[in-house]
Amino acid sequence: MALDRIAGEHSIAFIRSEQLFDLARSNSLFYLSYGIACCAIEGLMSAGGPRFDYDRFGIFHRGSPRQVDVMMVAGTVNKKMAPVLRRLYDQMPEPKWVIAMGACACTGGPFREYPNTVLGVDKIVPVDIFVPGCPPRPESMQFAFMELQRKIRDKTQERLDARASAR
Ligand code: SF4
Repeated sequence: MALDRIAGEHSIAFIRSEQLFDLARSNSLFYLSYGIACCAIEGLMSAGGPRFDYDRFGIFHRGSPRQVDVMMVAGTVNKKMAPVLRRLYDQMPEPKWVIAMGACACTGGPFREYPNTVLGVDKIVPVDIFVPGCPPRPESMQFAFMELQRKIRDKTQERLDARASAR
């Protein structure tokens, strides 16, 4: 077992429940794919395939916003679609995170001249990770998820530090 290798055989490890929950959360990220343009084909459809195989990180696609942790926005969001995106986000349970995939989701990309383009999904929902590129490679999305996992684990330490300093 991995713990035996770290701490030695028959050892006991103490861990706070928050750390345990965040560790579990970070290794079981179910994502809602909000794929609306070419980025969805590049990053999302290859995500579950055998070559990139996001499943091995505990990263799975779910079809319903009520069962996901992460919203992955892949593509150009227009102003008509913005309330729908917000509603889906609101239906996700807490804690939740958002990844903006590609130039369009981050800033409007090549369509930013058009008046109905939303110039970044952070205007609609809070974004945790921005992934540049047109389109980003699936490896970039893997890296984005790894960064998100790190961010989730760091949050535990931030909470514990804040509590310690409040004493
Ligand atoms: S960033 Fe590029 S690849 Fe992605 S949706 Fe926009 S135009 Fe398509």
